[in-house]
Amino acid sequence: MQAPPHVASFARALDRFPAYVYDLRGLADHAARIRAALGPVELFYAAKANPDAEILRTLAPFVDGVEVSSGGELAHVRRTLPDARIAFGGPGKTDEELALALDLGVERVHVESPREMARLLRLTAAPRILLRANLAFEAAGAALAMNGPFGMDEPALDACLDTGVGGASVRGVHAHLASGLDAPAMLRLAERIVGWAVPWLAARSVEAPEINLGGGMAVDYTSPETLFDWPAYARGLLGGLSGGLPDGARLRIEPGRALTAYHGWYVTDVLDVKTTRGDAYVILRGGTHHIRTPVTKGHDQPFTVLTGSGSGFGSGFGSGERTGKATLVGQLCTPKDVLARDVPVPTLRPGDIVAFGMAGAYAWNISHHDFLMHPKPSVHHLT
Ligand SMILES: *Cc1c(COP(=O)(O)O)cnc(C)c1O
Repeated sequence: MQAPPHVASFARALDRFPAYVYDLRGLADHAARIRAALGPVELFYAAKANPDAEILRTLAPFVDGVEVSSGGELAHVRRTLPDARIAFGGPGKTDEELALALDLGVERVHVESPREMARLLRLTAAPRILLRANLAFEAAGAALAMNGPFGMDEPALDACLDTGVGGASVRGVHAHLASGLDAPAMLRLAERIVGWAVPWLAARSVEAPEINLGGGMAVDYTSPETLFDWPAYARGLLGGLSGGLPDGARLRIEPGRALTAYHGWYVTDVLDVKTTRGDAYVILRGGTHHIRTPVTKGHDQPFTVLTGSGSGFGSGFGSGERTGKATLVGQLCTPKDVLARDVPVPTLRPGDIVAFGMAGAYAWNISHHDFLMHPKPSVHHLT
């Protein structure tokens, strides 16, 4: 993959590695295009993908709100964006977190169980909630099916209403059912969610219902230039689906990865190159304790070499061996510390600079930073 020129030149001039470089200019353009495609469909950003404060501020003009999944995220988002609309979801919310949500004026709580509903009603008589539905829809091709403990099946949804929650409190339903779906698959899933939700909500007299279709829009790490087809998705939602919606109904989505993945770069330098039992390795400063994404997703993190002597493949590996491929590893003492396995590389020598792309979501913030006590990367925001 290629880094945009402003990212590449900034990264080459860094005097310390590793570093995270966030391309806020690119992020704003990307978010603006998504916002424009979506029209009246509300867009919330799922902060757990990357809660970096500058990223939140960059996205703020283009999103209708932020979805948070813990009291920590909630406090951070409220501090960073005092006026943002916030939706608070996630299983296992504590009483303290629910109280914080009420204190900080969260607009919607996504209720995950009848017991949580009852606990919320002990704190306030009139919460503003969406009930999180766990629907038995197959999402073929999903990277992750969000079934299991998330949300409620129909009997549990009705048990929430039996807790005495006032009719005006239930504003609609929330369904985040899968992640990693492309636009046609996402649309098919949306059709099924809406097809279930509209009559279910009407039968329970929920007026002007909100239907939150969740996030999970695909990001293809094998093809960084293939973006989720937002215009097609939006056309499907607005054309095909909205006809079946009752008066005043509102659709909302809450993607994380597909918003921020593309505009983060993990930049580091080569410490060593060697060939062991015929396999070529490039040993980089840092590793998967800074960018766990390739391990959790089981992929090769896409990268570009920003320096290097150009021509030929693998001649930097010494011992007369010429190989076009190498495995890019970090400094950790574990064979799992692999950023990209057996991938084509140009000639690399110690000191060369490598930039891993698609590191703007589920990268730094999901990594085990303290393992081996290496220095943490510096963080830079390009505007
Ligand atoms: C994680 C999560 C999201 C965002 O998912 P992405 O795959 O990053 O788009 C949205 N909603 C809920 C409830 C989530 O748990």
